[in-house]
Amino acid sequence: MSKFLEVPSIATTKNSFQVAASYYLIEKFRPIFCYVLPDAQDPLEGKEKELIQLMIDNSNHWLRMYGSAEELLENINIYKDFSRSHELVSLSKETYPFRPRIFKSFQNEKYIAKSDLFVILQNMMIEVATPEPFEITRMLAVYLKSREKSAGFKSIEFVKFDEAIFEKMRERMKVEIGEKPVLSVPRMSMEASLEKLRRNIPLTLDNSQKENFDNFLGIFFCISDREAEIPPINTLVTYFLDYKRFTKALGTIIDENPDMFSPRGEDSDEPLTLRVFEDGDQKFLMKEEIFKPTEFDFFRNPNTIPLDTITMKELLESGEIRNVEFIRYPITRAKHRATPIRGPAGGLFILAIDCFFEYLRNLIHGEQILQKLKPTDLPKFLQKLNECDEFNCREENPYFIQTDRPRAITYMDNLHDYLHGLKWQDILKRPAKKVRNVEPSGFTVQDLKNELEHLGLTTIFPEIQDYAEAVYSEVEKHKKERFLRTCDVFDAIEHCQLNCVLERLPKLKKFVHNQKGCHRVHGMKCEKCDAEKPENEKDQKLKILEKELADLKIAHQKILEENQELQQKLLRLSVKNETNEVQIKQPAEKLTQSKLSIDDVNYSNACTSQQNVQCLICEKSMESGVDQIIRCPLCKRRFYEKCAINWIKDHQQCPVCNGDLPIF
Ligand SMILES: [Zn+2]
Ligand SMILES: [Zn+2]
Ligand SMILES: [Zn+2]
Ligand SMILES: [Zn+2]
Ligand SMILES: [Zn+2]
Repeated sequence: MSKFLEVPSIATTKNSFQVAASYYLIEKFRPIFCYVLPDAQDPLEGKEKELIQLMIDNSNHWLRMYGSAEELLENINIYKDFSRSHELVSLSKETYPFRPRIFKSFQNEKYIAKSDLFVILQNMMIEVATPEPFEITRMLAVYLKSREKSAGFKSIEFVKFDEAIFEKMRERMKVEIGEKPVLSVPRMSMEASLEKLRRNIPLTLDNSQKENFDNFLGIFFCISDREAEIPPINTLVTYFLDYKRFTKALGTIIDENPDMFSPRGEDSDEPLTLRVFEDGDQKFLMKEEIFKPTEFDFFRNPNTIPLDTITMKELLESGEIRNVEFIRYPITRAKHRATPIRGPAGGLFILAIDCFFEYLRNLIHGEQILQKLKPTDLPKFLQKLNECDEFNCREENPYFIQTDRPRAITYMDNLHDYLHGLKWQDILKRPAKKVRNVEPSGFTVQDLKNELEHLGLTTIFPEIQDYAEAVYSEVEKHKKERFLRTCDVFDAIEHCQLNCVLERLPKLKKFVHNQKGCHRVHGMKCEKCDAEKPENEKDQKLKILEKELADLKIAHQKILEENQELQQKLLRLSVKNETNEVQIKQPAEKLTQSKLSIDDVNYSNACTSQQNVQCLICEKSMESGVDQIIRCPLCKRRFYEKCAINWIKDHQQCPVCNGDLPIF
């Protein structure tokens, strides 16, 4: 990995990690994660695992479904490293906490999102200058974020990732930062110094930013647990002068590289970059990114419509695509959540199918709703679930839904309101048993069946134990350790419930099928997949055969053409051969007569027998008796004398019959 992608250990604060980690959890458990840490504003400095362990220990057993601290951390890391993750966890005054990601184009060249270059600048500054104290780094991140915002990106753009350029930037940065000036700072009142600082802010700040900035300066004064360490005002001014030096260096680099830090111009020759999302063997693009560039909005309206996609195949068939560089964007998902993706006009999205599984997981393990509903509540609940517009069973292409505006997503609202009608609060107050811990030696299918009964799920779904066997064998296939563990029993129970729900809701089952999610439900039987499979195989075989046939046809055609060419060549050759033979015979025959002919015909004789023939060299008609004519001794064709003499100067053959002419 390039050193320019490394995240310095101080770039992540305890708080930003904690918040990002909490978003990995289902909604209900988030508050567990968000308990206040001492010094939450401080850098995490590689203590991720300790922090996770601390969270697990304080979760009152609620986090058992996530496995060990290592596993949970591994999954959180897959989940949280996405462009603008700080947007999700709304940490405007924190450092950029994520690792920039490299993408490859179809030409296999490395690309990086332009907005991630600001993160690289931040990390480069930390590495080059190590601003002290850490608050200055945070202020620099605020500066970089404001530069990113004012650059005015209207879509997600990528540039080639070139180490050499960053190496140069790094050198430039060192020069620009220069030496720390030695200054004597006059003693001032706090008010006067603050005013001086505000006047010197090297940015045009709007009101909210100015407010942020003031708040930010407040970090030095009024963080309660730092009260003892408030720096004296003249120290503060030196901090600020450092800050100015660093921002000047950053600003210079940004200004000097407009093709990296600014949006691509309308008339730019640089190719437009488009993301091609890759999920399994599916390749698709966001329609909005191609067809209707909308106003970019970091704080996009949460209730926006889903983002539809167009498959790569459809796009290629739809017409010409000029000057486009396709960027491969693999969809990544941790075990419990998919990594969010930025929409073309802002906002963070995940695939509808991921949203579906995450939502059901919320209901199953978070609310334990299926353990709490009575059989009489079930039809209404299922009906409402089936009516969720967000899970559109008619859409055949993958599509994206905005993620993580908790409680603002419409389908959640709809369901929520409806369940309120069902006296939701009362339902939630009903007792629900917890999943029991698994023995170190693992668990059996029978244990799973017993657990389903223990949780009360057999009351609402009498057939749920029938799924145990199929689900068990899938869970065992996916297990991470030698024996099945408690987290695995959570998985198994979830999938048994998913099966029961989907069997009752054909529309949702169709949605899952269309969104290629069937294989993700352990043990689910999908008639459509089964029906498609052999056909698919047949189709594929047919396709292969068709392709082979087409190739053969092309090869055949080529051979035919070659053959034709050869035949023509042959024909030409045989004609030539014949003439050659004639030519060989003729001179031989004529040889004996030649002397005679010369005497007889008399080369310079005027022709009397033919009138108005053309000279076959100049194509002018000749008048017998007027012009001097020469005839070829072999074919007897006529030429002007002049033409013939000129011809003979550099030819030994008759221009018509190609026969050898006697040498004069
Ligand atoms: Zn409510
Ligand atoms: Zn597990
Ligand atoms: Zn299916
Ligand atoms: Zn002529
Ligand atoms: Zn001739």
